[in-house]
Amino acid sequence: MGWVQIMKRVGVIGGGQLAWMMGSAAKKLGLELVVQTPSQADPAVSIANDTIFAAVDDAIATEKLAQKCDVITFENEFVDLEKLSLLAQQGVCFYPHLPALEPLLDKYHQRCYLQKLGLPTPEFFALGEGLADLNSVDNLSKYLPYDKLGFPLVVKARRHGYDGQGTFIVKNIDDLQSKLTFAQIKSNLFLVEEFVPFEKELAIIAARCVNGDIVTYPVVETQQEQQVCQRVIAPADINPTVSANINHIATTLLNQLDYIGVLGIELFLTRDDKVLVNEIAPRTHNSGHFSLDACETSQFEQQLRAVCGLPLGNAKLTYPCAIMVNLLGYEQSQNQYIYKRKEIQKIPGTHLYWYGKSESRVGRKMGHVTALLDICDRHKGIAIAHEIEAIWYST
Ligand code: ADP
Repeated sequence: MGWVQIMKRVGVIGGGQLAWMMGSAAKKLGLELVVQTPSQADPAVSIANDTIFAAVDDAIATEKLAQKCDVITFENEFVDLEKLSLLAQQGVCFYPHLPALEPLLDKYHQRCYLQKLGLPTPEFFALGEGLADLNSVDNLSKYLPYDKLGFPLVVKARRHGYDGQGTFIVKNIDDLQSKLTFAQIKSNLFLVEEFVPFEKELAIIAARCVNGDIVTYPVVETQQEQQVCQRVIAPADINPTVSANINHIATTLLNQLDYIGVLGIELFLTRDDKVLVNEIAPRTHNSGHFSLDACETSQFEQQLRAVCGLPLGNAKLTYPCAIMVNLLGYEQSQNQYIYKRKEIQKIPGTHLYWYGKSESRVGRKMGHVTALLDICDRHKGIAIAHEIEAIWYST
């Protein structure tokens, strides 16, 4: 099959660590990256061939970005789709196409889209439009049929949530009321859903290229604490039916969306082996960082391949097992933690990525470590993760 002409200059909206990690793949493929990001201090500025300093939702800046590249892709989905659509009408090439992003940018719309495709999600409903005076429990119960789902419930801001920011697990009506009042300061649109008493959380990275070919990475287990991902184990210890189910979900989504690029899907696995989709990220994802060291083609190279019209690469594991540990900020500091990083790197089989952020804050992703194992042993992987975390979080 013939391939479309390769695009050489790739615009990236967003200049955080996900764009930063595209840097070495771009070099390998002989591509140039032009990054739109707000600050000189953002990680991807150091690897970009050119930079447009502007907010990710600044479409006037994206128009300038378009003049410098052949195709534009995303490392951050907090964009202004309406304004970008005007650029698309003028011939700017976005991969993934903007209509593929449309059902994904709002968590409530995402759930509705999954439901429309017949893909499994937790039970959910929207809350927000016309939300009245939250000071009264009576008023709240008018808008929120919490008695139907029962507590605990999960309340999520429909847009701009990340790393658990904007996601609240509420145990009772008082808790719900205080969370909503707090969250309402930031946004007044919420998704409310059943709390899933999952056995495990899983994720998959999948890619689709211009000619419709699809490649999926192995399903991984993700472990969250306080709604924030701490570690990822590749591959997940799941049965082949669950894996086939998840691959089916990924393939259905990519085809239905006519998606070009890399997509991350987070899922819940219940005790009776049912799979529910939690969230779709229309970009590379934290749960796919292991692929930098444990796969022939990293998720970052895969995204560039997909959007540049190159054939997709092999996504199989090249090691029996890999564990990825997020190095999350635990204090406000400008410390670059050189000593701790050196100590972690002494652990055999580890590869450390430091994103070069100028300031650490509680919960901020400062870097990650991947440890490669020569046997498939989940417990050993978790023990190494704990060893890394003991060094990182020590005081
Ligand atoms: P974010 O977009 O900020 O990552 P998520 O919606 O993915 O937020 O939620 C973060 C974490 O919160 C999930 O990984 C999971 O641990 C927990 N969580 C979210 N929704 C539910 C749910 N319906 N039931 C149980 N836990 C949930």
